[in-house]
Amino acid sequence: MSTTTESHRHASRPIALIDLAAQQARIRERVDRAIARVLDHGQYIMGPEVADLERRLAAHTGAGHVVSCASGTDALLIAMMSLGLGRGDAVLCPAFTFTATPEAIVLLGATPVFVDVDLDTHNIAPESIAAGLDTARAKGLEPRGIIAVDLFGLAADYTALSHIAASQGLWIIADAAQSFGAARDGRKTGTFGATSFFPAKPLGCYGDGGAIFTDDDALAEVMVSIRSHGKATGGDKYDIARIGVNGRLDTIQAAILIEKLAIFDEEVALRQAVARRYSEELDGVVTVPRIPDGCVSVWAQYTIRVPATKRAPLAAALADEKIPTAIYYPRPLHHQTAYAAFPVAGNGAPNAERLSAEVLSLPMHPYLEPEDQDRIVAAIRRAMGRI
Ligand SMILES: *Cc1c(COP(=O)(O)O)cnc(C)c1O
Repeated sequence: MSTTTESHRHASRPIALIDLAAQQARIRERVDRAIARVLDHGQYIMGPEVADLERRLAAHTGAGHVVSCASGTDALLIAMMSLGLGRGDAVLCPAFTFTATPEAIVLLGATPVFVDVDLDTHNIAPESIAAGLDTARAKGLEPRGIIAVDLFGLAADYTALSHIAASQGLWIIADAAQSFGAARDGRKTGTFGATSFFPAKPLGCYGDGGAIFTDDDALAEVMVSIRSHGKATGGDKYDIARIGVNGRLDTIQAAILIEKLAIFDEEVALRQAVARRYSEELDGVVTVPRIPDGCVSVWAQYTIRVPATKRAPLAAALADEKIPTAIYYPRPLHHQTAYAAFPVAGNGAPNAERLSAEVLSLPMHPYLEPEDQDRIVAAIRRAMGRI
């Protein structure tokens, strides 16, 4: 802090990690009117906005069916319930993700097998899948599928994964909680996928929400039934056809999402501009994220890597300048208390462990001002020169 000038001090207002207020200011009137319409018609559960949103999401992604639901976690749960997952089954998932990914597997009585990730993309490593299948079978479990996570907004390697899945008779679910709007090889992610509308996700509502995407007509019908306590979807509507959940998206959240979806593509472009500037300015100073050819990330997070011993000092130096950072994720899942007893593929997950020690997510949102971004970059350069 040797050269703190008057203008520098003036410029050191706090920066938000994710600035939801800037977006709200932009659409507040439209959101107010949308909420008022719901209050006027009073159909709080499965009101017309829900089906309207589902149609718009289908048009946006190209998915055959969109089943909205109460959260990203419910989206994963309902998707796997529709596939009949249960006891004795194993599902492969990355060791480096949010707890909701394996949580849904465990809730259904099945066993998650943690698979290592790729150091550059942070996503499940296709070359580790074979070891995951061996580990599952050695435990007497039947591998049923893979949940690939599109971490930080970048699609997993579905081309490689689907080759393996097809040869082994496995399904793949994209945990697209962080990647709504992302694309890989010209396809939007989550063709069979689950996304989240948690407020801080790229497309977020003002509460909890989620959606499942599928091209399979029969599965979509089962998921619609499961979302609403397993009620039969045709014929006798008083028949409970299966065990379901209370997993519906609130009408008010659907109304809010319709307004947010209207500006979403523009926001993704703004996020990409922010990410590009970070990468240009920080390449060589820290390890910047690498986006494989053919991928469009929606930059749910902009996550750098630094040597493990430098991470805490860097975060502290940035905090001193009112620049927040976050660690997603400080522990791989197999090191979390609740998951410690579940199997890890092959020889462990060294990349997941390394990432947990090295990652640091920087402020990232569509409305990050260039001056604020300059401040962040300058602070990182200063700190990395010193620590
Ligand atoms: C946020 C998130 C979820 C869960 O979404 P909720 O809507 O909070 O239930 C699942 N998986 C990943 C990778 C997430 O980031």
